[in-house]
Amino acid sequence: MRVKVAEHAGYCYGVERALKLTLEALNRLPKPICTLGPLIHNPQVVDSLEEKGVRAVSTLDEIDAGTVIVRTHGVDSRVIEEAKERGLRVVDATCPFVKKAQRCAAQLVAEGYHLVVVGERDHPEVIGILAHSGEGALVVERVEDLSNLEDVQRAGVVVQTTQSEENLKKIVSELLSVVGEVKIFNTVCDATANRQKAAVQLAREVDVMLVVGGKNSANTTRLAQLCRQINPRTHHVETPSEIDPQWFFKDAFVGVTAGASTPDWILKKVAAKLATLS
Ligand code: SF4
Repeated sequence: MRVKVAEHAGYCYGVERALKLTLEALNRLPKPICTLGPLIHNPQVVDSLEEKGVRAVSTLDEIDAGTVIVRTHGVDSRVIEEAKERGLRVVDATCPFVKKAQRCAAQLVAEGYHLVVVGERDHPEVIGILAHSGEGALVVERVEDLSNLEDVQRAGVVVQTTQSEENLKKIVSELLSVVGEVKIFNTVCDATANRQKAAVQLAREVDVMLVVGGKNSANTTRLAQLCRQINPRTHHVETPSEIDPQWFFKDAFVGVTAGASTPDWILKKVAAKLATLS
């Protein structure tokens, strides 16, 4: 078996920054240290943070003292204000790329555009973007969702940072056919675009493709979807224990990529497991 890891795989800038801020908070800020929702969408990393004393909570009501960390996806700015009013220390680990999407959405609304957010309605990042842009925005996950767009003359588009550019292009192309004026901020982040391009390229070359990362991670799931379109022998695994030796044939060429929230140590364990199958 031959194994090749994609050129861009694993932790992105935003995740590394959030982890760094969290570990710094553990050392020097008031305890307990809580994150609003899991810090990143990787259960193994969240478990290891919990062992160090970082607890994930769903709402501010579960915290009565200490420090609260806002994760990379961001939140409604009113939540940050409320945390401060409650006397909590706030560490804002919202990824700067997500903040840019929030700012672009607010700008489009201020300029009078009907806001269209390309992304997943229930994803925390999209919920945060909507919170920064008032009411009335339309969330579009796929082209068909545009049928919910009311009669608008000017539409302004922002994108969940982990969407595929391919999906964005399809939606924008359809939007241009129904709305007279469309202003677009392509807020797909570089880390996402680079991982997707490298993964798709590798999926073309190999016999079997492994995508490593949280099953609850939007960007990892999207990587697996994109790879599967190119190479049906694509498998999304969270840990090496999920790897089934029957996926591989003798002398198979195997590609490995990982989502932006997948740590290096899980990638190394996957490589070690593959080495035992060679
Ligand atoms: S995937 Fe992009 S937007 Fe999301 S945390 Fe990483 S760098 Fe930031």
